[in-house]
Amino acid sequence: MCMINFKMTLLQLTARSLPVVQSDERLQPLLNHLSHAYVGQDYSVQKNVGKISLEQIDALSAKSFPLCMRQLHKALRDNHHLRHGGRMQYGLFLKGIGLTLEQALQFWKMEFIKGKVDAEKFDKAYAYSIRHNYGKEGKRADYTPYSCMKIILNNSPSPGDYHGCPFRHSDPELLKQKLQLYKIPSTGINQILDLVKGMHYQLACQKYFELTHTTEDSGFSLNHPNQYFTESQVLLTGGRGIKKESSQVESTQQSQNKPPPKTSATASQETASVSKPANSIAKNEMEILEEILNDDEEDQSANSIAKNEMDISAAILNEDQ
Ligand code: SF4
Repeated sequence: MCMINFKMTLLQLTARSLPVVQSDERLQPLLNHLSHAYVGQDYSVQKNVGKISLEQIDALSAKSFPLCMRQLHKALRDNHHLRHGGRMQYGLFLKGIGLTLEQALQFWKMEFIKGKVDAEKFDKAYAYSIRHNYGKEGKRADYTPYSCMKIILNNSPSPGDYHGCPFRHSDPELLKQKLQLYKIPSTGINQILDLVKGMHYQLACQKYFELTHTTEDSGFSLNHPNQYFTESQVLLTGGRGIKKESSQVESTQQSQNKPPPKTSATASQETASVSKPANSIAKNEMEILEEILNDDEEDQSANSIAKNEMDISAAILNEDQ
């Protein structure tokens, strides 16, 4: 068995034993390592970049998003807000399906200002972390969309959160109601619930794919929400890919925001920013953590995690000064 297959098998076996494994504190470091040890395609490479218009997202969420992302999209539209965990999971997924940074900023802003956040607060408190996800702030890393294993194993949702994997984290009765809402036939719902009961979360998701695409065999082994999206589009468009329907407003904005051609001076600036000393990286990390604290005031658990991380960053800064 090659190393990639071995890792895949290990990840699948771990997912099946989750309740036992997760309750054993001694195994937490191993779990954390495994959830980062995704060995499939890197969906930060955006083949469809700029090909999706914001107007298409509602329709795509119903047709081609896995349940985790469909749930996040619905919660965002209903509440005009998502907490940090949801913004990270959904924002990186959208980046992976091809949303440009300019589209992402427009998408989140348009939704948030319908709720309790005004435009000024959005620009101050939320835009930074979106630019951060696209590698334009902080340590300028190009962040990768989360794999199923990372979503299933890490950062379980608390009440009021909508991130996570519904097959893993939803109460079976709530999951059943959700599937009924999405018009999944009752025999299909029973098949999904059986798979969930057996802790085969990704297989349950594949069954959901088959039922929503009226195919008997999805023909792939699911390990990433962006893979789900790609496979769905291949099936629905006959392999032609997403039809470009960018609105005029978006294309104008994109051309206005197009970065200038890279000169040797800008290239060396970028190199310098990547190799910033540890204390400046920690300072950037602190800025984004401050955002999390300022943002979800009602989210006490997220605040306390973020506060601990801020303390660590502050300690690094003090040591390096
Ligand atoms: S199995 Fe993966 S793609 Fe499906 S809902 Fe769970 S996390 Fe999302």
